[in-house]
Amino acid sequence: MIRIMITGGAGYIGSHVVKLLGQMGYDILVYDNLCTGNKWAVLYGELIQGDIGDEQLLDKIFQKFRPDVVMDFAAFIQVNESVKDPIKYYYNNTAKTLILLKSMVKNNITNFIFSSTAAVYGIPKKIPVSEEHPLDPINPYGQSKAFVEQILKDLSNATDLNYISLRYFNVAGADPEGKIGQAYKESTHLITRALKTANGEFEKLQIYGTDYPTKDGTCIRDYIYVMDLADAHILAMNYLLETKKSNIFNCGYGHGYSVREVIDIAKKVTGIDFPVEETKRREGDPPALVADSSKIKQQLNWKPKYDDLYFIIKTAWEWEKKYSHGNIR
Ligand code: UDP
Repeated sequence: MIRIMITGGAGYIGSHVVKLLGQMGYDILVYDNLCTGNKWAVLYGELIQGDIGDEQLLDKIFQKFRPDVVMDFAAFIQVNESVKDPIKYYYNNTAKTLILLKSMVKNNITNFIFSSTAAVYGIPKKIPVSEEHPLDPINPYGQSKAFVEQILKDLSNATDLNYISLRYFNVAGADPEGKIGQAYKESTHLITRALKTANGEFEKLQIYGTDYPTKDGTCIRDYIYVMDLADAHILAMNYLLETKKSNIFNCGYGHGYSVREVIDIAKKVTGIDFPVEETKRREGDPPALVADSSKIKQQLNWKPKYDDLYFIIKTAWEWEKKYSHGNIR
């Protein structure tokens, strides 16, 4: 039986991966400090409340549970917040991840799957952007993840550690069964904000910048369904366990939607014509981020099943309605 430790497994993406791994029967241990995650979101496995910066606790767990693979989702992810509070991002996403890796290496835990981000590319010179594109992040969030990628590269040369870095584009949607979803009240993400506005939780949705060099002046992003991303983690894990080779893959569909297009779809899905205001750019946002995902499709045989933004937003809407009324589970 393969043993998997999932840090940040009570958070948005982590909890969806836990659900999928749990349904597949893997032996799971979730490790989360619950600063943004929720106990109820952990549908499978044991939950240990702990911090990825707690080396002693990690050492103990590694000695006892001895995971075959560690998947690391424990991170802060809001671009704009990272611009305002870089220390929070470098401390948690970089420095504490280094402690996690230090403990892994010390305890000879050798397989690591890292949640990286398209934000490592900065403003891509070419769209869609492939894994070979130079890393040149334009915000501390992207830089905090790029630092870890460099650390992983160096560690994999110097030690037995093997890793897969998955560079997520914009992850969206919720569990189709409605048990879990994005449950971070302060979420600043476009789809969540749009749906919370439709739900009456905000007065209006703001569009951050209409003067970008894009087809309609608003930013373009590649929105990937959280369960397709969860599949990518299983494939990455199997590849890592079989080949013992480190690698890096983009996770996105290869086409993007503008902010205006996302809002139009959100209005259709909800049937609510919520108020929208155009305002100035938000700091740290690149104009367009779209994945060249040919590598993961070819090398891992990743076959996304839900490349349909209407469907993705619908799952998020179903979740949002339920979550905002407190009817979890
Ligand atoms: N955005 C927006 N209004 C909002 C939230 C986001 O116009 O209330 C824009 C944001 O500027 C970016 C895109 O939507 O261009 C996606 O932002 P999000 O925060 O969802 O993800 P990010 O790409 O920053 O990780």
